Amino acid sequence: ICGIDEGALQLANGTLVVLDGSLGSLRRNPGAEDLEKAHERIRRQTAKREEQDLAASKLAMTADGHRIEVVANIRNAQEAREAVAAGAEGVGLLRSEFLFDDRDTAPSEDEQAAEYCAVAEALGRERPLVIRTLDAGGDKPLSYMPLPKEDNPFLGLRGVRVSLDRPDIFRTQLRAILRAAPIGNLHVMFPMVAAIEEVRAARKILLEEAGDRADSVKVGVMIEVPAAALIAEQLAREVDFFSIGTNDLTQYTLAMDRGHPKLAKKADALHPAVLRLIGMTVEGAHMHGKWVGVCGGIASDAMAVPVLAGLGVDELSVSIPAVGSVKAQLARVTMDEARKLAADVLRLGTAAEVRALLAPYAE
Ligand code: PEP
Ligand code: MG
Repeated sequence: ICGIDEGALQLANGTLVVLDGSLGSLRRNPGAEDLEKAHERIRRQTAKREEQDLAASKLAMTADGHRIEVVANIRNAQEAREAVAAGAEGVGLLRSEFLFDDRDTAPSEDEQAAEYCAVAEALGRERPLVIRTLDAGGDKPLSYMPLPKEDNPFLGLRGVRVSLDRPDIFRTQLRAILRAAPIGNLHVMFPMVAAIEEVRAARKILLEEAGDRADSVKVGVMIEVPAAALIAEQLAREVDFFSIGTNDLTQYTLAMDRGHPKLAKKADALHPAVLRLIGMTVEGAHMHGKWVGVCGGIASDAMAVPVLAGLGVDELSVSIPAVGSVKAQLARVTMDEARKLAADVLRLGTAAEVRALLAPYAE
């Protein structure tokens, strides 16, 4: 949980609290009634876990057999193995900036290639592996690549902009990633894209580095900036797939810092404005036969799953512990029900109204 009162850090040892990761809340000294409600929730969730464990081992699909891939967000090879064991059908987001975030010197091509190849090996030839190129800047400072101080780092050098600004580092990373192509089902994805020129420039460099191996890798972009969602149809002509980063898309759509403790509750990816942008992205991509994933935190929220399915999303990339619950949720709804739900929420005006309508789907 994040974005709660700083007082949480001052809790005395032994204080009774109710920590709810789904609601993102921490309640101190709960009364008897609150405590009983919490116990009831725990009982219900334990009962659901069996159903989720069963769902985790099956191919993800809706109750009427519509296939939606459920894959995982990971940071390294160890998590790749955990993801497969948890039932993930691949990896929808390898956050490559976390692989070497504990060091002061840039990793060499060989060091990076060893990590990417280890992840690819853990997944095998069939399971898709989406490696996101370095997403430094904003909320992800990199100690080995200090960026100049900026007044608005979230609106400055971030994601693919950093890579295009530092082609030496970018090319090294791409060469390292491409070495995993013979081992895995490789997809390369560029973060924080706002303009087609960025995609063309990044793709050109990738293709130069790939040479005659260009056909062995799929190229995609993250949809995290409203501009990218609004030109999804045009962007879809340039790439093979999209993955919607709802954490940043929400931040930029609502103009609310994703890590702001006072705004965290309001920066809700279920805001109808964000859902509309997701719908537009899917429409634009499908016009050109391209697939769309969602890899932001909302994909792991069981309550949001039917709406994302109804909006036409093809892949959900979720946190490893959520794989079972997301698959189980998909198995409970039909596409007709999901599409109706999506149409209904798009008529609403606030995130609170959306959450109220989706309450029956909460875990
Ligand atoms: C996102 O922005 O939703 C996303 C998946 O990327 P990150 O959280 O790493 O910025
Ligand atoms: Mg992001």
